[in-house]
Amino acid sequence: MTVDRNCFQVGDLALIQDRKGRRNLLSLADGQVFHSHLGRLDHDKLIGQGVGDWYRTDKGHVVLAVRPTLGDFVLQMPRGPQIVYPKDLGLIVTLGDIFPGATVIEGGLGSGALTSALLRAVGEKGRVINYEIQESWLPKGQSNIKKILGDTPNLEIKIGDIYEGISERDVDRVVLDVPEPWQAVSTVGDCLVMGGILLSFLPTVLQVQKLVLALEADTRFQIIETTETLLRTWHVTERSVRPDHRMVAHSGFLTTAVRCQPRLIRTPSDLSADNQGEIDVSVEGETDGRDE
Ligand code: SAM
Repeated sequence: MTVDRNCFQVGDLALIQDRKGRRNLLSLADGQVFHSHLGRLDHDKLIGQGVGDWYRTDKGHVVLAVRPTLGDFVLQMPRGPQIVYPKDLGLIVTLGDIFPGATVIEGGLGSGALTSALLRAVGEKGRVINYEIQESWLPKGQSNIKKILGDTPNLEIKIGDIYEGISERDVDRVVLDVPEPWQAVSTVGDCLVMGGILLSFLPTVLQVQKLVLALEADTRFQIIETTETLLRTWHVTERSVRPDHRMVAHSGFLTTAVRCQPRLIRTPSDLSADNQGEIDVSVEGETDGRDE
């Protein structure tokens, strides 16, 4: 049976926007009614009708109904722990180089926003294996993921502390949204394939510094970079063009690191051995005089 993607079906998500830009998310079901200050809107009015169409509430107000993007959905979905915002989701996929077919270990399911973005990026041929310490978050996180993505057989959720160890090996990517990722550095180093990428989302700079120092001390991570994204929306009309007054001023920092061979450094004794035709290169931490 072919589904007409121009029309809403039972079970679809619909994003309702009123003329002031206020948004609500509906999960369309037979016989359900959406109530707001604008009046009631029967789900049955939308089911079988056009996506991108205008609908009238019983009080005569007109609203627009479209399909939510992933970003719309995560902002509207029921939350437990703090979600990763859409502005960071996009960058996590890019900076973490989450590619179709990748195997990704994720630390912390929470409300499932980041997991949904990772599942989309790895596609049906990829896998996301999530370690979540708090079993009580599962129903909310799983239900959110199901609403936006449907069934996801390529998602495995393991109840456990990611700091205690990751059992998988030759993993392409590790994405962490847990409070103390420095505790996971050693196990992440063991599980990543050579050239694999660790990405960590952290809200404060003190956490970032602790993570970066731990990554450097481990010696198996190189190309360690930290970024922050500020996203500002704009108000554009015929008479005025300016930034919007409100924005999400801070969410968090993204730190990435690439799993490599430990750095080979040449000590003075290596150099003298070289001069005698011997090469004996030791494996150490940083001693090349760069800023500490
Ligand atoms: N990324 C999620 C999202 O976008 O909805 C939110 C994650 S929330 C901020 C952090 C999650 O990590 C919580 O669900 C918490 O229970 C979990 N967590 C904290 N420490 C953990 C650990 N050591 N191992 C596994 N999960 C952990």
